[in-house]
Amino acid sequence: MKTLTASSPQALDIAALRADFPILATKIHGKPLVYLDSAASAQKPQVVIDAERRVYEELYANVHRGVHDLSMRASEAYEGVRGKVARFIGAPSAKEVVFLRGTTEAVNLVAQTWGRVNVKAGDEILITALEHHANIVPWQLLCEEKGAKLVVAPINDAGEVEIDRFANLLGERTRIVAFAHVSNALGTVLDARRMTALARERAPGAVVLVDGAQGVPHMPVDVKAIGCDFYCFSAHKMYGPSGMGALWGRKALLDAMPPWQGGGDMILSVAFEKTTYNETPFKFEAGTPNIAGTIAFGASIDYLCGLGLEAVAAAEHELLAYGTEALSSIAGLRLIGTAAHKASVLSFVLDGVHPHDAGSILDYEGVAVRTGHHCAQPVMDRFGVPATIRASLGVYNTREEIDVLVRGIRKVQEMFA
Ligand code: PLP
Repeated sequence: MKTLTASSPQALDIAALRADFPILATKIHGKPLVYLDSAASAQKPQVVIDAERRVYEELYANVHRGVHDLSMRASEAYEGVRGKVARFIGAPSAKEVVFLRGTTEAVNLVAQTWGRVNVKAGDEILITALEHHANIVPWQLLCEEKGAKLVVAPINDAGEVEIDRFANLLGERTRIVAFAHVSNALGTVLDARRMTALARERAPGAVVLVDGAQGVPHMPVDVKAIGCDFYCFSAHKMYGPSGMGALWGRKALLDAMPPWQGGGDMILSVAFEKTTYNETPFKFEAGTPNIAGTIAFGASIDYLCGLGLEAVAAAEHELLAYGTEALSSIAGLRLIGTAAHKASVLSFVLDGVHPHDAGSILDYEGVAVRTGHHCAQPVMDRFGVPATIRASLGVYNTREEIDVLVRGIRKVQEMFA
């Protein structure tokens, strides 16, 4: 559904595109919904909603098991999405794509399989100070089990990873390097390519995992160009269904990793004496999967690709610049996260106002923002705040909505003056 303006063939017609998202017509407390919480979860276009519904109406059966027509059609549609995911992120093969519940499950899978086999006492796992809890806690669990050490690359006052300090923390003991492509709490875009290259140079024994939860919805991603070993993301942040996501990993690594969960579909044969596991990626997909969700995930990829990721990035970048300028002009507002290279997130605090109070008042204006620590408590600690107010952008947001946010913030300030 590509919607272009006449003047600029690259620019998206946001007003037209908004009609693809039925929920955007909703009223909240009698006011038009201004949805600024896409970093938590993005809204769904009609094509994604329809895709999921159509599975149950026309196509539904369990996958990989039946010889009957419906099962084969469902399996074909389901497996077709694997190829779409691979092409979407520039992966060499659909066989390198593991379907999972999302980013959290993907990081846990790598920690509990590659990590358990390859990390030993005294080894190091390097992350950064801006990670989501999903890219911290699985590594802590692994470190606890193995007696390994979690090492954290610091960020500066703008919320950027200090690349020299990151580089200096890499070494022979480093076994895993894991970092976000884009920070959900700050909006910082990390130089995934450079960080991966540094890891290769200074920590040749390490694998590199990129948490792409906030990357894929906002910019074109090519895992070959990044050069990493694992890249993972969640469908619900890219206009797809919740409870669905993918892990991409290099085939040789996935092949060498042990299975994770046991059950149906992940085996070739089972006997009490010995069970033989299925090949990659099926050996990581035990049990009946989210069949309709996977097919709808494919529809969300089609939708984003139809818009064009370059066009999405350009539109959001322009709106982020507009929002940054608008919020910066408000006295008593402090932006948290001012990196030179940012995407889609405006995190801030207001003098003398708790973020939760601000969030509740903004809600009465129809404005949905997230308040809290955004599952990134160490980021809050780094900036000395308990929580922030976070306005996060999706492709459907407009300048007018930023103006409503700004008026709402002024109202909050008047109430607490
Ligand atoms: N990583 C980042 C950067 C995120 O923003 C999120 C979700 O907010 C996650 C990981 C976890 O994603 P999920 O809850 O979909 O597994």
